[in-house]
Amino acid sequence: MDLLNTLVDKGLRRELPTREEALAVLATSDDDLLDVVAAAGKVRRHWFGRRVKLNYLVNLKSGLCPEDCSYCSQRLGSTTGILKYTWLKPDQASQAAAAGLAGGAKRVCLVASGRGPTDRDVDRVSETIRTIKDQNEGVEVCACLGLLSDGQAERLRDAGADAYNHNLNTSEGTYGDITTTHTYADRVDTVQKAHGAGLSACSGLIAGMGESDEDLVDVVYSLRELDPDSVPVNFLIPVEGTPLAKEWNLTPQRCLRILAMVRFVCPDVEVRIAGGREVHLRTMQPLALNLANSIFLGDYLTTEGQAGKADLEMIADAGFEVEGTDQVTLPEHRTETAGGGCGSHEAAGCGSHGSAGCGSHESAGCGSHEGGGVCGTPAAAAAPAGEPRTDLVAVRRRGAGTDLAPNA
Ligand code: SF4
Repeated sequence: MDLLNTLVDKGLRRELPTREEALAVLATSDDDLLDVVAAAGKVRRHWFGRRVKLNYLVNLKSGLCPEDCSYCSQRLGSTTGILKYTWLKPDQASQAAAAGLAGGAKRVCLVASGRGPTDRDVDRVSETIRTIKDQNEGVEVCACLGLLSDGQAERLRDAGADAYNHNLNTSEGTYGDITTTHTYADRVDTVQKAHGAGLSACSGLIAGMGESDEDLVDVVYSLRELDPDSVPVNFLIPVEGTPLAKEWNLTPQRCLRILAMVRFVCPDVEVRIAGGREVHLRTMQPLALNLANSIFLGDYLTTEGQAGKADLEMIADAGFEVEGTDQVTLPEHRTETAGGGCGSHEAAGCGSHGSAGCGSHESAGCGSHEGGGVCGTPAAAAAPAGEPRTDLVAVRRRGAGTDLAPNA
């Protein structure tokens, strides 16, 4: 297919596809799906080989959030029945992190519910970061604490954080439909603050919230412009007790096309399959490793993932290898600029930052909009609805905030 040959060539050159090309990936037929995966897989292997980076989530503070993000079971008014607890102590967080690291993770993602941290919260998380770094040599730490105020990113960096995550989630045009308590511009501002402080920026999206193909392409192009080092792709888990509980819009095929599109638009960044992997990709998860070079090990913030051991077996069975702490995640050109970016473990390692999210940046990287243009093509056909698989959704009842062993 000419389209795929063009996209592979562009991906190997870090050249931005046109919006029409990105939309065409989402509109490919099931007959062409394996060709799409194979093409995006060439780009993935060119920049990341067969390595899979494992990340481990520690929910430092769960539930009780005053914000109203429709997809989130920690939101104001959620009736999901998730674990609710306030800040884990540094040692508790470090213990949870250690389980993930022992399971093969090289990055720990410290997440807290809420609109954003107070300065006292930043102090608290800083102490947790120092504890985790003291007790686990070589670990990468990413903080995800919501909207940042001036100076907070710098303080987290000084405490040893390598990266900061704040997702754009969806397109600017639809952002107001999913959240009213903060804006898309607020989110962009926080990613830029992280970037500006020299943290490696991690920012991604949630697919499956009823968005159009154009919305998906919009948010991925916006991400490329922000130039994060890592892009988590979440597939909405329509959790009972949230406003989006009925939004079962995804199929495994749709998820693969979305991941392929993200890979073509952001060829040299860490593309991570995030929440919803087990629920929506299901038995197609191993195929998705040809597109993404990173996953979360074990459980998510409020829902359970498949057993950590099953993640490791899947990676090995699919012919991939877990990325070690001695291996650099990002391609050399991204770790050479402005201080290293996450994934570079040499010298200053991931504690020195020249980028936001997991990646450093250069002009042709995920930040250039040449060739993007404005889409002139008609809207692609709406994705077929997926079947509800509520049987695959389990609220997390183990790990951080409980007395039960974590899944790692
Ligand atoms: S996504 Fe974050 S800010 Fe939004 S409701 Fe959930 S915890 Fe709160």
